[in-house]
Amino acid sequence: MGAGRFAPSPSGELHVGNLRTAVLAWLFARSTRRSFLLRIEDLDRARAGAEDAQLRDLAAVGLDWDGAVERQTDRLDGFHDAVSTLRSRGLLYECYCTRRDIAEAPSAPHAAPGAYPGTCRNLSDAERAGRRAGRPAALRLRSGVGSFTVTDVLHGEYTGVVDDFVAVRNDGVPAYNLAVVVDDALQGIDQVVRGDDLLSSAPRQAYLATLLGTGVPQYAHVPLVLNREGRRLAKRDGSVTLAALERDGIAPARVRQLLLRSLGLPEASLAAALAAFDPARMPREPWIYSPLTAADAGCDD
Ligand SMILES: [Zn+2]
Repeated sequence: MGAGRFAPSPSGELHVGNLRTAVLAWLFARSTRRSFLLRIEDLDRARAGAEDAQLRDLAAVGLDWDGAVERQTDRLDGFHDAVSTLRSRGLLYECYCTRRDIAEAPSAPHAAPGAYPGTCRNLSDAERAGRRAGRPAALRLRSGVGSFTVTDVLHGEYTGVVDDFVAVRNDGVPAYNLAVVVDDALQGIDQVVRGDDLLSSAPRQAYLATLLGTGVPQYAHVPLVLNREGRRLAKRDGSVTLAALERDGIAPARVRQLLLRSLGLPEASLAAALAAFDPARMPREPWIYSPLTAADAGCDD
């Protein structure tokens, strides 16, 4: 059987929105008899101590995972191999555009809004040499399609833009879309559960996985947690991390109950929630999070 995963960036503490997505990823994996793996996405934005704190928080809400925690920085060779493969097949080209260049470039007819306009796609060797002197190049995928369709457990068929997206940033770091595909392939991940703000990037990743022959995973893009203004939950929304909630007298076990309640699942234990979990019946709307208060610490268990 395959594996599901949770893959946080170690940029700070997890908040209840991240934890709810982690619980869902665990429920999806365990309910389909998959392994559940953790991956630390530390290619950039790694903050000292954040990884340890995140693992502590995941364990504190009762999640368990299989095998050792993996880190992106431990497999730079894997990214390098994928880049070599794509390059040898003529599927990458150098791009010297700034964000501003892209915003100001005339877009091709029928191009999707925001799609890369193809400025650097067909430069001559001489033109490349000239541009290279001015600015380090990013590597873009020479995409053969304009869009791609994925199937999502919660969203059904979803078709999204596939442009010539960046595979390697101009500082040499693999871009998210490449890294996630290579990481998932190397870990044997065949189920991707994550926030639905990433649904629009799934077609690019699935297309890239097809080019690399690594197989397209099953996707489930789950509703985000929003604040009362309808914006994505963030640290400024008050006590949103386990540490802050604990200072307010709300224990991690209580936070887990509230997360399970928000999913319409039994609160008694993760095992009880797992037994009752059915993706077809989970809420499809974002969860609006109100800061918890001492009253929420109450013991009805
Ligand atoms: Zn360019």
